[in-house]
Amino acid sequence: MTKRIFRSILATSFAVLLVGIAVIIGILYPYFGGQLEKELENEASYLSLSVEKDGVTALEQLPHSSSTRITLIASDGTVLYDSQADAAQMENHADREEVRDAMENGSGRAWRQSDTLDEQNIYYALRLSNGNVLRISSAQRSVVSLVLGVLQPLLWVALLLIILAAVFASRASKKIVAPLNSLDLENPEKNDIYDEVSPLLTKIGRQQKTIRQQLAEAKHRQEEFSLITSHMSEGLLVLDSRMDLLSYNESALRLLGVSEENSSYAGKNVLVLNRNEAFREVVESSLAGHHGETLLSLNGLSCQIIANPVLTDGAVAGAVLLLVDVTEKTQREAIRREFTANVSHELKTPLTSISGFAELLQNGIAKPEDTKKFAGRIFDEAQRLITLVSDIIKISQIDEGHLPYTSENVDLRALISGVLDRLRPAAEQADISLSLQEGSASLETVAPILEEILYNLVDNAIKYNKKGGKVAVSVEKDGRQTRIHVQDTGIGIPPAQQQRIFERFYRVDKSHSKEIGGTGLGLSIVKHGAAYLGAQILVESTPGEGSTFTLVWDSTC
Ligand code: ADP
Repeated sequence: MTKRIFRSILATSFAVLLVGIAVIIGILYPYFGGQLEKELENEASYLSLSVEKDGVTALEQLPHSSSTRITLIASDGTVLYDSQADAAQMENHADREEVRDAMENGSGRAWRQSDTLDEQNIYYALRLSNGNVLRISSAQRSVVSLVLGVLQPLLWVALLLIILAAVFASRASKKIVAPLNSLDLENPEKNDIYDEVSPLLTKIGRQQKTIRQQLAEAKHRQEEFSLITSHMSEGLLVLDSRMDLLSYNESALRLLGVSEENSSYAGKNVLVLNRNEAFREVVESSLAGHHGETLLSLNGLSCQIIANPVLTDGAVAGAVLLLVDVTEKTQREAIRREFTANVSHELKTPLTSISGFAELLQNGIAKPEDTKKFAGRIFDEAQRLITLVSDIIKISQIDEGHLPYTSENVDLRALISGVLDRLRPAAEQADISLSLQEGSASLETVAPILEEILYNLVDNAIKYNKKGGKVAVSVEKDGRQTRIHVQDTGIGIPPAQQQRIFERFYRVDKSHSKEIGGTGLGLSIVKHGAAYLGAQILVESTPGEGSTFTLVWDSTC
């Protein structure tokens, strides 16, 4: 801007200078011409007196002048005398404008270009009393010649003026621009400079206010969006059409196993987060305008990715990717599949036996004395099936969490006592002594589930015990924790299997377990039941010496 103002001022000064020179020359040139004319007029009137008196002789006696030419012309136009040429050689002057005017009106004047272009002649003619005409002429330099004559000083003056104009223009432009440069655009309306700029500043002020409002609104929305997405357990990735991340939440980084050290991934390519082939494909497919889904296994997590394109006016403007942690679901499905396969197998075995014995009886192949034995086997297998189905039902109910029970304050000692009473006949039959140790406690819990857990633990302690063995149950509360121990002096469990025994259908000794009517689901019911009640189940066991199963409720958990 400073340069433009500088150039404008300089150009204006230059134009003014040229116009000024032209105007001065235009005014002065005719003025000097007029002066010259007056001088010629005076000279002619003085000379005319001498010529009237002495004729041509008066002229011939005049000193020779190079600037003024004197001519005497007879009334018929014949040149009688010329101060600068031979009169006899000169042509008739009757048709000269000034001569003709003088003859007609007494005096005449004329301006004519001389032979050389750089001069012009000014003529003044005066009629004498004898009819002759006295003409005086003088040359005046033409405008071009006059300008050319003073060109050099003129150029120096012009140069000086241009330098002065340049200095002035530079200062003026800086002075004009300085207030504009120091404008406080943060508070445009507080500036007090040129009146012409005020409407612009007012407009800027209004626009700034609008921008500030819009920014605050956008920030508010962004904060709202971040707040919502940061509390989502699902991961969210928003991409533009070039695969660059516009927005993401912490869950997305966590699920993709990316650390947040790099503070911000905004603006970076989404493949920086994961270079898995399936991930790349689902991103590309969404950016091609298709809905896509894929399952990624990352760092032990199963992550389902659902990708959808974002369309603007029918064109893909980006994509939104939702990442869902389906690890638990996947594991549950795998367990369920395994469970179904196991259940089918477990059901098939007794059913095959039942079917075989029933066939023998039906065909009459069985001897009459074996009929009772076979019927007994069918009954045993049917009992086994009933126990199995009932265990499956229990485990499914706990799994689904659809239990029709409510929590209540339970006297643990009384509950354990009831369980021991139910199992006493079986214990006596196996020659096992049951005892409830000193100690009592009450707990806010679901009594039927706890009863089921303890029943399974004491039942196992009897089943996997030695003849004449012992089972001792105790309860204790030490302020922070409530514990129930089921201790036996049985066969014990090898260390390598101590955690596997809680798996469904897992038995340390399959044939022994089946022999004593085990389903392999008892401890699984215990584990799920304990989790349902918010308790931990621990096992300590030494093969050949016995085992202790402990249920622990930690009130700080
Ligand atoms: P089961 O119906 O076979 O008893 P469980 O799930 O109750 O199934 O137990 C799984 C396995 O754990 C049993 O087959 C047994 O080998 C072992 N087990 C359970 N409790 C005890 C215990 N108190 N002493 C020794 N082994 C045990």
